[in-house]
Amino acid sequence: MIDARCCCGMLSLSLPGPSQLVVACHCLDCQRRTGAPFGVGAFYPAHAVTISGPSQEYVRTAASGGKVRSHFCPDCGTTVFWQADNLPGMIGVAVGAIADPDFPPPIRSVFEQSKHGWVEIAGAEHSQQGSVAKKNSS
Ligand SMILES: [Zn+2]
Ligand SMILES: [Zn+2]
Repeated sequence: MIDARCCCGMLSLSLPGPSQLVVACHCLDCQRRTGAPFGVGAFYPAHAVTISGPSQEYVRTAASGGKVRSHFCPDCGTTVFWQADNLPGMIGVAVGAIADPDFPPPIRSVFEQSKHGWVEIAGAEHSQQGSVAKKNSS
């Protein structure tokens, strides 16, 4: 078992282990959500994740059209996880909140249309657009 948690530790997730589905996203919403030039999420089946502590929800409409519900700590504001309409039954976990430098790298890098030029995601499949759910975006 591994943990993901917010800065203050009030909101935490218990995860079964490293995920094989890790995605880097360069969309502007992820940039704003994280405050970093890109976001990285590890995806797990919702039933495999145990959530402890309070969270507040922020709902936005993704570039792909569906809703994304981000859950953040009401005290420190860290987004720890999210759920997307177009990935039913899955939970995206902010890889930074897992705080493990040996966590598996992204297998996909999406929305590279808004990628900062200096960012290179090595070893991933690259997409200009696309979400985790879409397999055939260019
Ligand atoms: Zn917190
Ligand atoms: Zn994104």
